[in-house]
Amino acid sequence: MFIKKIISKSTALFKLDSLIEKSGVKLIFPFYHTISDDYIAHLKHLYPILSTKRFREDLDFLLKNYSPMSSAELLNSNPVDLNRNRRFFLSFDDGLSEIYHTIAPILMEKGIPATFFLNTDFIDNKDLFYRLKTSILIEKIIEEGISDSQKRAISHLLKIIGINYNLPKDLLKIDYQTKEVLEEIAAVVNVDFKEYSKEKSPYLTTTEIKSLINQGFNIGAHSCSHPFYFLISEEDQVSETLNSISFLKEKFNVAVNMFAFPYTDFEVKKSFFEKISSEVALSFGTASLKLDTVSTNFQRIPMERKNSAEEILKEEYLLFILKKLVNKHQIIRH
Ligand SMILES: [Zn+2]
Repeated sequence: MFIKKIISKSTALFKLDSLIEKSGVKLIFPFYHTISDDYIAHLKHLYPILSTKRFREDLDFLLKNYSPMSSAELLNSNPVDLNRNRRFFLSFDDGLSEIYHTIAPILMEKGIPATFFLNTDFIDNKDLFYRLKTSILIEKIIEEGISDSQKRAISHLLKIIGINYNLPKDLLKIDYQTKEVLEEIAAVVNVDFKEYSKEKSPYLTTTEIKSLINQGFNIGAHSCSHPFYFLISEEDQVSETLNSISFLKEKFNVAVNMFAFPYTDFEVKKSFFEKISSEVALSFGTASLKLDTVSTNFQRIPMERKNSAEEILKEEYLLFILKKLVNKHQIIRH
């Protein structure tokens, strides 16, 4: 963490060109979740929401230094040619509705292809990812306050799952395994998730996804329910993956051969990649600038941070170069 801090403070000393040369990494995979100039209660407490201004700056910076690569090109490239020129492959996770309303129009305007990785359980707002529910509850408590008895009830519910409740942000400690408690807390603070979904439509609808496909965008799978893969059995990892792929193929009648891991591909074994290989041509992790011993698995760079795209990339290149010195720049799978 200390080294990371020094690196992020020293990016101005380096030129991107020389970092690219030194690292040998010319093909990069930046990714985002959403872009918005509006207030979004269901995302506000999860990660920084970048503005359209910042997004345009990121894209202009990427276009100036790399040329965009489409999913078809990535799929059809010979692996040895992939790293020959400076390219970027852009993708977005979770299938949030801003993709249709805000992101796609900007990408069309700039002529940038993209892949949208969708969670099939959430399309059409059939359900809300538990993290979104958490953000909604935190926002409600902060904005409207709670009575002493409501606070006691929440503390009691959280104590059962081993969480001490002091601040609204403590709700972020609720995990995938204990997410059912969110329904009970919602009842305490009078939040109706179904009503919220209906009113705000956080996720893309079928019609919107069809329209994005017609505009030339690519869709990929991001699992059904967005679990941590390292917490579930390999059998469940395979079914979450293959079920989400077949759902999208059937519903939208398009080829779906890309998959992005929900959260992270940390500790996912070689045998998993073998089991999905008939359906998944390429997969994507979130470990930033890193190589992977599974040649069809690419690591993407999370771009939703406070510093600019230039600073993020320089920081990641510097880290990559340092890790390479001690042979830690590659994810080794067994
Ligand atoms: Zn995700």
